[in-house]
Amino acid sequence: MPIFPDVDTLRLCSMLTSTAFGLVFCALWLRDRTEGHLLFWAAGSLLYGAVMFSFSLTPPNAVAVTMPLFALLSLCNVLPLAGARRLDGRPPFAWWMLIPIVAAGAGHGLPRLAVAQGWLPAASLLPNIGDALGLSLSIAINGGMLLWGRWTVRTAGHRIAGAGLLAYIPGFLLSIAGEYHVLRGMESLALLAMLSDQALLGIINLGLLAIPVERAERQLRQAALRDPLTGAWNRAGLEAQKPRFLTPGVAAIAIDIDHFKAINDRHGHAAGDAVLALFGREAGRLSQAGGGELFRLGGDEFAILLPAGGPDPGRFAERLRAHLQSHADDAVGWTVSMGMASVLDGERDVDAALHRADGSLYQAKAEGRGIIAA
Ligand code: GH3
Ligand code: MG
Repeated sequence: MPIFPDVDTLRLCSMLTSTAFGLVFCALWLRDRTEGHLLFWAAGSLLYGAVMFSFSLTPPNAVAVTMPLFALLSLCNVLPLAGARRLDGRPPFAWWMLIPIVAAGAGHGLPRLAVAQGWLPAASLLPNIGDALGLSLSIAINGGMLLWGRWTVRTAGHRIAGAGLLAYIPGFLLSIAGEYHVLRGMESLALLAMLSDQALLGIINLGLLAIPVERAERQLRQAALRDPLTGAWNRAGLEAQKPRFLTPGVAAIAIDIDHFKAINDRHGHAAGDAVLALFGREAGRLSQAGGGELFRLGGDEFAILLPAGGPDPGRFAERLRAHLQSHADDAVGWTVSMGMASVLDGERDVDAALHRADGSLYQAKAEGRGIIAA
């Protein structure tokens, strides 16, 4: 009695599962046709179902048919990656995606052609090893790119789908070992691959489905916590970041642009906006380089929190002032006033330090502006 279902039954299961995922992706795309990535994922799943069906109709030694089928099998792994790239705003296809497709087709076809030509003995194990190696390379490239590629928003979905693809490789490699040991026979590769398929198809496709959901959630969270003009955290962002800055020694720097209203009045609101955006970009970059964060508390009022043990606040403020001066547009000259304070022992919140920094800022304004007060 066989321990496992036969390859044909497993192939039928894979065909049905993959087609079902393909239909789900199609239905989601029909709901919103701007989401083109879903079409790539639908195509990958439906094509996989069709390739499985074609394998069940094709005699194993019909290389002229099975070789393109292996190439198409690899295309089924390329399409999830292409969809993820499209969702990331990049061109879905790149030239190097031909490598996995050619590797899978050639890995299957070339050893068989060599046997047919008599260059290899008829009993050679190379055809089955070639199948496993070609498909492993194909999966390694596509799975690896999903897992370790550079994504603007890398999500758990990328990792799940990528790991799901890579998880085929042990089955393929085991089948190579099987050629030499217990599972020797034409069906061993197909059997192991089809067995892994039952679990991995679900993992890969659910991983893909999770990518846009997680992206949208992160973008919404960012939009709720960040000020779009300056890129700085807003007040809600300050609340979310506060727990990071609870230790004594954390420095709070309150900053306000001098005579900002006059910049608006003299040069127009758009020029005022440009000053705010430039301030946000440069002060944000410098703060993050020091392990800190920039917050926009209102109009032209900002705060920076620097971690305990981070850069010396006095030197940081001086550097920031010099940096802003070097970036300020000469036509719209502007300066900032700053006030500094630290979180003291026993304080359970950064609010008191921010309040003291604000007090110092008022002092800087009263003393003539463009000043850093401690
Ligand atoms: P001071 O040196 O005392 O800080 O003078 P100031 O003119 O900077 O003080 P004030 O706080 O009165 O001015 C802030 C101005 O910032 C008032 C408001 O019109 C302007 N403002 C607030 N938000 C924005 C914004 O998003 N864009 C632009 N362009 N202006 C803004
Ligand atoms: Mg001001």
